Amino acid sequence: MRFFAVYGNPIAHSKSPLLHNFIYEKYGISAYYGRIMIQNAKALPQSFKMHHLSGANITVPFKEDAFRFCDAVRGIAKDIGACNTWVKEKGRVIGYNTDAQGFYECIKDFGIKTALIIGAGGSAKAVAFALKAHHIDVTLINRSEAKLTFFADKGFQCHVSDAFMPTSAYDIIINTTSAGLNDATLPCKETLLDALFANSGYAFDLIYGKCTPFLQKASAHKISCIDGKQMLIYQAALACKLFLPEYFDNIESSHIATLMHKILV
Ligand code: NDP
Repeated sequence: MRFFAVYGNPIAHSKSPLLHNFIYEKYGISAYYGRIMIQNAKALPQSFKMHHLSGANITVPFKEDAFRFCDAVRGIAKDIGACNTWVKEKGRVIGYNTDAQGFYECIKDFGIKTALIIGAGGSAKAVAFALKAHHIDVTLINRSEAKLTFFADKGFQCHVSDAFMPTSAYDIIINTTSAGLNDATLPCKETLLDALFANSGYAFDLIYGKCTPFLQKASAHKISCIDGKQMLIYQAALACKLFLPEYFDNIESSHIATLMHKILV
């Protein structure tokens, strides 16, 4: 029996155990995926060891700690500075970021050339680097300046939302803030959103399981709306492949994602 888990705080709401255990059952794999709440990021490495985990996902607010506390980091996680996946490999803990590719999988067929990201937190980093890796021109806006510094230092165009006057159109507007998650707020001024949606083709909200005020507004402008559900599924499918390569190396992540989709509907 192999053990996996998702770490976070809070964690009771996480759909990851449902998604992963469904796949283990489907493929007859002797594995169990649980959820573990920790209070302090420093508990992460010790808890991973103590529970004899073969792999884990790490969610809010520990992704940056997961980057710092693993033995080595691979792939796009190095740019992002955050890991959402740990894999035990020959006694070492290797960190990955599957949020970035998970996001890109959702939009790769849209023909996007320019993107505007609202927000500058951990998920904005994953989205920004995923887009940059595919040569998509990225602009970020955030309600405050501090978190924009990271992006400006990496060469992204950045603006504080209230001072932002769009001078060109964006193919996609992406909300990576938590505005609308537990309230009815928009991630930036309504007039700004109206101007952005008037000239774009897609609106993407990383929040899943509800039609946020951001997506309601986009829908009123009759542009295509995508919520975070498919991204959640894709990052899980990609993590699944990393956890159990002996079963999933030759299986496309899109196939695993399609199966996972069935249990979330
Ligand atoms: P962070 O806490 O790292 O960053 C939050 C960002 O949102 C900050 O830039 C913050 O601005 C901004 N923000 C927060 N509240 C508001 C508000 N009311 N109005 C405007 N801006 C606001 O969070 P994450 O990036 O980790 O996560 C953000 C969201 O993305 C969450 O809702 C999370 O559930 C979702 N998510 C979904 C995933 C999926 O698979 N679908 C994967 C990862 C995240 P400031 O800098 O000024 O504080």
